[in-house]
Amino acid sequence: MKEDFYKILGVSKEATSAEIKKAYRKKAIEFHPDKNPDDAKAEENFKKAAEAYEVLSDADKKAKYDRFGHQAFEGGGSGGFGGGFGGGGMNMDDIFSQFGDIFGGGGGFGGGFSGGGRRAHVKGSNLRIRVKLSLEEIANGVEKKIKVKRKKVAQGTTYKTCTTCNGSGQITRIQNTILGRMQTSAPCNVCHGSGQTIDKKPANADANGMLATEETVSIKIPAGVVEGMQLKVSGKGNEAPGNGITGDLLVHIEEKPHPTLQREGDNLHHDLYISFSDAALGTSKEIDTVNGKVRIKIESGVQSGKILRLRNKGIPSINSYGTGDLLVHINVWTPKELTKEQKEFFNKMRGDDNFEPKPEKEDKSFFEKVKDMFS
Ligand SMILES: [Zn+2]
Repeated sequence: MKEDFYKILGVSKEATSAEIKKAYRKKAIEFHPDKNPDDAKAEENFKKAAEAYEVLSDADKKAKYDRFGHQAFEGGGSGGFGGGFGGGGMNMDDIFSQFGDIFGGGGGFGGGFSGGGRRAHVKGSNLRIRVKLSLEEIANGVEKKIKVKRKKVAQGTTYKTCTTCNGSGQITRIQNTILGRMQTSAPCNVCHGSGQTIDKKPANADANGMLATEETVSIKIPAGVVEGMQLKVSGKGNEAPGNGITGDLLVHIEEKPHPTLQREGDNLHHDLYISFSDAALGTSKEIDTVNGKVRIKIESGVQSGKILRLRNKGIPSINSYGTGDLLVHINVWTPKELTKEQKEFFNKMRGDDNFEPKPEKEDKSFFEKVKDMFS
C-alpha cells in the first residue's frame, strides 16, 4: 500500500498550492542527501516527498489523485498488472530538476548544498496511445496487444564519452560573488547532458543513432478502469541515446458504449420494457450482463418503475474490494393501439376494482427510489 501523498507532506487535503510548496520545501531540506549522506531512510523520504509534490503541485494530476488515488498514475493494485506497470516513482535527477521552481533555480541553494554535479540523464520521450474498451473488458480486465512506433537505439550504434564535459553531462563554473564562492552548472551543450556522443552508427539511423521501429506491446489492463484514466507502462516509450533512460508508454482509457447497459461508477443500469400482459401475469426475461446473459424472474403484478438489484453483477471497483450491482429498471409498456376486442376487454375492466391504483408504501415513487439508492 502506498502512503498518502498528503500525509507524506504533512498537509491537509484543503492545503493551498503555496502551503504544499512550503511543506515540500521543508521536507526536501530535512531529507536532502547532502545533509544525510549514506542515509538510505532519508533518501527514501526525500524521494517520497518529491513524488508527492510532483503530483500535488500540478492541478491536473492533483485532481486525478483526489479522484482515483494512487491508481491514477500507476494503475497498479494487487495482482492484475504484472511486470510492465507500477514502480514509477522518480529518480534523483528528476527530483533535482524539480528544484528549479522550489528553490528559485541556480546552483548552491541555501549556500550549503551543492545542487549540481549530477548527470542529467537524458530521458526518451513518452508515447501516448488510446485504448477503447468494451464494458465486458472493463469488468473482467483484459490484456491488449497493441502496435506502437518506438524509437530505439539502432543495432551497431556505439557511443563514447563526451570530450567536452568528460562524461559528466554538465559544465560547471565557479564564480566569486559577494556571498562567497558559488558553483553553478548547466547541461553540456555538446551532448545535451547525456555525457555521451555518437561513436559509430549505421547508415539508416538518425543523427542520434536511433531508428523508428514498430513493436507489439502487451498491456495488462486491470478490471474496473474508468474512462479518462491513464495507465503507465514503464520503459515502453522511446529509448534515449547513450545511457539515457527509456520513456514510458501512457495508455489513455476510453469506454465503448454498451448497447443495453449504462455504467454509473461501479453500478450498471438496464432499462427493461415488458408488456402490459407480462406485468399482470408475471414472466421471466433474459438480459445482458458483462458476463453473458442471465434470466430474471418478473413477479406478477410488478409495477412500472420497480428496480431489481442484481448484486455483484456490476463492475469491480478499481480502488477497493467489491463489485457494483446491476440495476434493472422495469418499464411497463402500454399498448398504443388496441383492436376492437381489446378495447372491449379494457372497457369492461375500467370499473373493475382490481384495476384501480392502490399504491402502497413499497410502491415508492421514482424519485424516492433514486434517493434511497444513493443514500
Ligand atoms: Zn558533454
